[in-house]
Formats: sequence, C-alpha cells, structure tokens
Amino acid sequence: MSKGHTIPLLHLARLLLHRNTTVTIFTTPANKPFISDSLSDTDASIVELPFPQNIDGVPAGVESTDKLPSMSLFVPFANATKLMQPNFERSLETLPNVICIISDGFLGWTQQSAADFGIPRLVFYGWNNYSQTICRSILANSLLSGPELDDEPIVVTDFPWIKLTRSDFDEPFNSREPKGPHLDFIIEQAIATSKSYGQVMNSFYELEALYVEYWNRTWEPKVWCIGPFCLAESAKSDLQHHRKPTWLQWLDKQLAQGSSVLYVAFGSQAEISSQQLREIVVGLEASKVNFFWVTRKSESELDDGFEERVKERGLVVREWVDQRAILGHKSVRGFLSHCGWNSVLESVCAKVPILAWPMMAEQHLNAQMVVEEMKVGLRVETSNGLVKGFVKSEGLERMVRELMEGETGKEARKKVKELGEAAEKAVEEGGSSWHTLNQLIDELQALRS
Ligand code: UDP
Repeated sequence: MSKGHTIPLLHLARLLLHRNTTVTIFTTPANKPFISDSLSDTDASIVELPFPQNIDGVPAGVESTDKLPSMSLFVPFANATKLMQPNFERSLETLPNVICIISDGFLGWTQQSAADFGIPRLVFYGWNNYSQTICRSILANSLLSGPELDDEPIVVTDFPWIKLTRSDFDEPFNSREPKGPHLDFIIEQAIATSKSYGQVMNSFYELEALYVEYWNRTWEPKVWCIGPFCLAESAKSDLQHHRKPTWLQWLDKQLAQGSSVLYVAFGSQAEISSQQLREIVVGLEASKVNFFWVTRKSESELDDGFEERVKERGLVVREWVDQRAILGHKSVRGFLSHCGWNSVLESVCAKVPILAWPMMAEQHLNAQMVVEEMKVGLRVETSNGLVKGFVKSEGLERMVRELMEGETGKEARKKVKELGEAAEKAVEEGGSSWHTLNQLIDELQALRS
C-alpha cells in the first residue's frame, strides 16, 4: 500500500528466504520495479496483478497510498483493491505447497481467500505492540468519546502511566462522533484480522515485552514479534562503493572533517504548511549544526537562498535515498524524525537518538514510546504545549542542540546504543525473534502436513 509497508515486508521476505522457505510476492505493475530491484539478489518470485482502474479521484498509475494526491482518498483506494481478489485467487491456485499468506492489514479481503483455500493468513500492519494495544483499548472502551478538549488526559485502560491526550490520536480514532467510512474501514480490517492465524510484528520482544504479553493474554489473534526486519539486510549503499551517490560522498566528507550530522526526514505522507516549513528552515540555520535534509519540497517552498547560505554545513536532498545507509553512516549523530515506525526502528538499529516530531497516523504514539518508554529520544517543543501544535524556530533550534550536544541527548544516545545491541541479539541465532520465527514456521509446516 505504501513504501512504509512495502519495505518491511520485503525485509521480512528476506528473513523467510534465509530460513529456506520459498517466497512469492504479489504486487501491481507500478510497484513491481521497486520490488524486483530490492529483491534482485534473491530467489523470490514476483506475481503481477492488474490494479483496478477508474477509482474515483485517484489518478491513473497511482498504485500506492504514498502517491495519492490526498489521504482523504485512502479509503476508496484501499476498498478498490478488493477488485483484485479474483486474479489473486487464480494465481494462488497455481502455487504448490503454500503454507501461509502474509498480507497487509489493510488488505482484509485476503482473509476470505485464505479461508477459502484453507491456508493460514498472517497479518502485517507496520506498527508495534504498544500502539496496537493503545488503539485497541481506545476502541474497546470508547475512551475518546469522553474528553472534549484536545489536551484533556486520556487514561488507557490497564496502562495508567501512559500520558496521552485526544490530540495524540488521528482520524478515525479521535473523531468525536466515532463513525463514518474511515472507521468502518478500520473495523472491517480488524474483523478480518481477528479471523486470521496471527500477526507478524516488526518489533522484538525485549523492546516492548509488557505490551506483547498483554496483547497475547488479552486479545486475538496472537502476535509474533520477529523483527526488526531491517536487520535481515545490510544497507544497499554499503555494498555499492563503486557507485557511491553524491549524498554519501557528502557524508564521508563530513566524517573526514570530524563533523557530526543531524539527519532530517519527515516521511512520505506528512503535509507540512509553508509557515511551518519556514520555521524549520530558520531553526536549522540558527542551530549551526550540520544537517542532511531529505524532502520533497522545492527550494522556493523552503526559502530561496537557504541552501546557498548553509552550503558549508547543510545538504538538502530531493531524491529517494537509502535511509538506512544514512542512519548507519558514522557521521550521523541524531535524527529529526516524524516517527514512522520503520524510521524509529531503523534509528534504533543504527544506534542514533531521535528528536521526535510526529505528524500523523500513529506517529504520536510512536513518539511517546520513543521518549517515555524506550527513552531513546526527545520531543520537539510546540508553542502552545499541545502535541499537534506549531513548532517555532527558537524551540526547534534549542531541541536540535540538546539532541546533538546536550545532557538529555547524551542519555538518549547511551540508551539507544543499548537497545540497538538488544535488537541485534534478538535476530541473531538463539535470540528472541530468531526463536519466535522458528516456532512460527514449525507451526505452519505442521498445519500443512
Ligand atoms: N525511505 C527510504 N528513503 C527515502 C524515504 C524513505 O529508504 O528517501 C524508507 C525508510 O527507510 C523507511 C520507509 O521508507 O523504511 C518509510 O517508513 P516509515 O514508517 O518511517 O514512514 P512513512 O513514510 O511510512 O510515514
């Protein structure tokens, strides 16, 4: 559905291939090149399914949610994928010995196919146990039907220490009248998930043991923590020294000069106002830190002349980059991030602390987890103190400096190193994720025989 779901699923494919299973990926024509390129060194097969045409409001050729002109088209887009079911099933018929279907949580219709074929389905949502547990509790206990104000505290059932307000939630969870197509869609997917065999979680037990235990004790279907998936593959640019991209050469130069770099990226789907962009530009410039900013915004949208003014210490990049190669670069000392779950995990695995600036979806919960639970980062300050408030340049400058040079930044750096090492242990032979994946494969094979 988007790069944020595709990339971890491709890493998961690698994890499965490492265990001698056969992997077949189903995708659409527009998404296939990225997938074939990512898995070009593997034996994974790829099956192309035609993507439904003429979806109201969706331009022809758009086959992933991060290319939608507006997120308001998400539900019609996701619903249209149901039209792919007959072709999916025709292809499935031709595959021998399928022990499992792993599919995106937003492709709930695959549950029906799995049931019809008598194949267990595992669901992948691209988030973590912490956020899933909170959202489930919110829905099950109607926790958001009460508070009227955005900053009114919400007490999450069984987790009174988690400090959240209504503004930590996004559509459809935060609507005062919880109904409408978006919520209906989420509930439809949740029902399909509840009929599935289980969920594969891109996380590791030690990171959120409490929430994994709670979920598996309280709700269904079972969660299998088998990540971080990104550790199944080393960053591509590390392997391709003969054609180092210019941005990697720039990072090398920073390292050679003994400079440390702040990596800045807000994900593929966030909508940032021009006023807010302006504050980021001013804040980064005033902070005097060296920075590497990946953005889709043009120079005139940021501020004409900004890139020239900061050229000695700042690089703005507008192409697709290998984020893991950036985070893994020795010059990178901090990550100003929107807290998409992949970005958080990739930062932890690279042992880089985070300055959390969540924008949408479950990113606010991830940010809370980063700061309060994992303690691997700090949060940007908003001018009105509200989670979704405006961030002024002075506050940004202060927090950037704190992350890069301050005492709390130092503590977060120490903690992220510990967690990064724990992540490596989890996926190594004998680690928690390694064991859980073995158990899962054994169970699935036993079901088939
Ligand atoms: N990513 C990347 N290069 C880019 C932009 C993004 O490699 O130029 C990857 C990033 O490493 C992560 C994914 O795209 O694996 C984005 O997922 P995340 O959950 O962090 O954010 P989303 O974009 O889904 O909000």
